[in-house]
Order: sequence, then structure tokens, then C-alpha cells
Amino acid sequence: MTLEKTYFRPRSIGEAVRLAAEYETDLRYLAGGTDVMVNKFQETDTSTCLIDLTGIEAMKQTQQKNDHLSIGALVCLDDLKKIPEISAEFPLLLEAVQAVASPVIRKTATLGGNLLCENRCAFFNQSEWWRQAAGFCLKCNGATCLATGGTLNCFSKFASDTAIALVGMDATITVLDKEAEYTVPLEEIYTGDGLDPRKLDKTALIRSIELPIGRGFRSVFKKLRHRETLEFSSLTSVVTIDQIGQVKIVLGGVDPKPVVVIGTIADDKNELIKKAIKKARIVDNDVYSRLYRKEMIGVYLNKSFEELEQADFLSNKLAS
Ligand SMILES: Cc1cc2nc3c(=O)[nH]c(=O)nc-3n(C[C@H](O)[C@H](O)[C@H](O)COP(=O)(O)OP(=O)(O)OC[C@H]3O[C@@H](n4cnc5c(N)ncnc54)[C@H](O)[C@@H]3O)c2cc1C
Ligand code: SF4
Repeated sequence: MTLEKTYFRPRSIGEAVRLAAEYETDLRYLAGGTDVMVNKFQETDTSTCLIDLTGIEAMKQTQQKNDHLSIGALVCLDDLKKIPEISAEFPLLLEAVQAVASPVIRKTATLGGNLLCENRCAFFNQSEWWRQAAGFCLKCNGATCLATGGTLNCFSKFASDTAIALVGMDATITVLDKEAEYTVPLEEIYTGDGLDPRKLDKTALIRSIELPIGRGFRSVFKKLRHRETLEFSSLTSVVTIDQIGQVKIVLGGVDPKPVVVIGTIADDKNELIKKAIKKARIVDNDVYSRLYRKEMIGVYLNKSFEELEQADFLSNKLAS
């Protein structure tokens, strides 16, 4: 049976959420479309109702509000560098943006869309024909995970580089859905289940992303990938330290959700690194092997701490 396809372009957030509630069973919001349209061509997304958000001007604004900077979810990645408050206080976000995809994609993709781009796996992000020939895995309603041979869990990789940076800086997001409007720490929306990676209602619309002002974040960003452009992450690592001495490690590309370890500058950095390595549930679903990526977590985190120490951001207070 061919399902009827529907497309809407609302002009306000309220209208978008109302339409979403009406078409809830088969809906997909569309922002830059750089993830949605690829998934549609590969037939891993079969939703029939597209709600195009690009006509909602209110989601393209950035403003400073009391103790935080609020960035509209529809701000395109390439435009973030034009916002002086971001360059001044959150350069880590710009580093992460620069590591996303390619210049052309960054001119179309939005920050909100990047936070919700689908998890990746070498066995899943393939054409329908490829997946049928290999045998459909759990994430395509098959019976087995082709990466592990298991029948219960999917370990598709968390893909968003900007989310790793934002979680490192304790970002929150403001969401509207058919029930309510609420603000939640970004890291709390990710479930860790590769089959259903996000804990959001189907009608949930991210209105804005908030970053705390005045925390004085110092940071190091690193990304392992096969080529310097267009490649999704095989491992993204961020270490941040704020002015009251919170140390936060965040990893992407090595688990279905961001791996987060929080400590202080008084903690033993080797213990923090060990915790991060232990938490990452890496499987062989990438061009690099599981063991190589696991080893690279240690390499990147050690280098990151060295760089923070050399810049004197950790002084001598961090035990090693
Ligand atoms: C070749 C290629 C290479 C890439 N490499 C990288 C990479 O290295 N690192 C990386 O991080 N990403 C990478 N990406 C992913 C890319 O960054 C994402 O496709 C992009 O950021 C998604 O943004 P978008 O605005 O196009 O979202 P869309 O494709 O429009 O939407 C993506 C998802 O978010 C939902 N959505 C969008 N906006 C909202 C909103 N405001 N509220 C609720 N739901 C919303 C959509 O329904 C959809 O589920 C790559 C993509 C391609 C095609
Ligand atoms: S991790 Fe396994 S179940 Fe998940 S997408 Fe990859 S092959 Fe499929």
C-alpha cells in the first residue's frame, strides 16, 4: 500500500506542534534536511508527513538571557561563527562545528538537527539493497545485530559532534511538545539504546539551546575520522574545565549516547580516563576496529589533559 505523503511549512512554533500532534504517528520534522533526506533516500526513514521548520523565524534568533546564551535551534552551523558571544565564550562549540561534515553541509545543517541526527553504524547506513543482501539487522526490524551477533541490543554510534561539545559545557535545551514546554540538560535526552536513541516525544520540537554564561570553560576537542572532511566520527573527545574546577570528559562515536565522566581538578586524571574507557560500549561497526578506538580514547584523553596542563588551566592541582 502506498501511503499518502504530506508536507507542511508552518510559520510559528505553536502551529508546528499542533500539526505534529495531528500527524503524530508518521511525522518527521525537517530542518536543513541533511540527515532526514539521506535517510529517506536510503529508506531507513519511512515517515510520510514532513513538517518543515524553516519558515519559523523565532527559531533562528540568538539572545543573551540573564545567565545564559540562548541559541535558536534553526541557526545553521556555519552561521554560529558569526555570533560574537559564541566566539568569545564558547569557542569549543565552533571547533566542534568545524569538524562536522563539509563546508556545504554546514551551510545547510542546523544546530537542532545536528543534536538529533540519527545514530550511525556501518551495517545500517547503507542502501536498502545493501541491507537486504547482508541481512536486515535489529535496527531495520531484523532479528540479529550484525556487529555483535546479539539479538537484544543495538550499539549504533552517537554521531553528533556539536552535542559532545555542548554536553561538555553543561548545555540545556528548551523543548515544546503536545503536552508541555520544558528545559532539560542536553545529555538527559539521550537513552543509550541504539534502536531508540532519544527520550523525546514524537511531537517534541527543540526551540533553543542554552549555554551558561560566565563559567569560563577551558577545553580541548579531538576527533578521529578516516578523512579530514565528510566523515562521521570514529571517536570524538572533549575535556572541559570550568572556573570552579569541574572537569568533564565527554566522548562521542563510541557508544549509542555521549559517554560522560565528571570530576574535579583535585581528582586523579588517570582514574577519570579509566572510567571513560570503561563506560564506552564500543563494537565493531566502524571503519576502525573496536580495539583501536578503545585505545585511542586513552591517547586522546591523555593528550587533552597534557594540553590543559601546558596551558596552565589545571595548574598543579590535578593529581597524576
Ligand atoms: C556526508 C555527511 C557527513 C556528515 N558528517 C558529520 C560529522 O562529521 N559530524 C556530525 O556531527 N554530523 C555529521 N553529519 C550529520 C549532519 O551534521 C546532520 O545531518 C545535520 O547536522 C542535521 O541537521 P539538519 O538541520 O540538516 O537536520 P535534519 O536532517 O533536517 O533533521 C535531523 C533530525 O533532527 C530532527 N529535527 C531537526 N530540527 C529539529 C528541531 N528543532 N526540533 C526537533 N527535531 C528536529 C529531524 O526530525 C530529524 O530527525 C554528516 C552528514 C552527512 C550527509
Ligand atoms: S549495532 Fe547492530 S543492530 Fe545496531 S545498527 Fe549496527 S548492526 Fe544494526
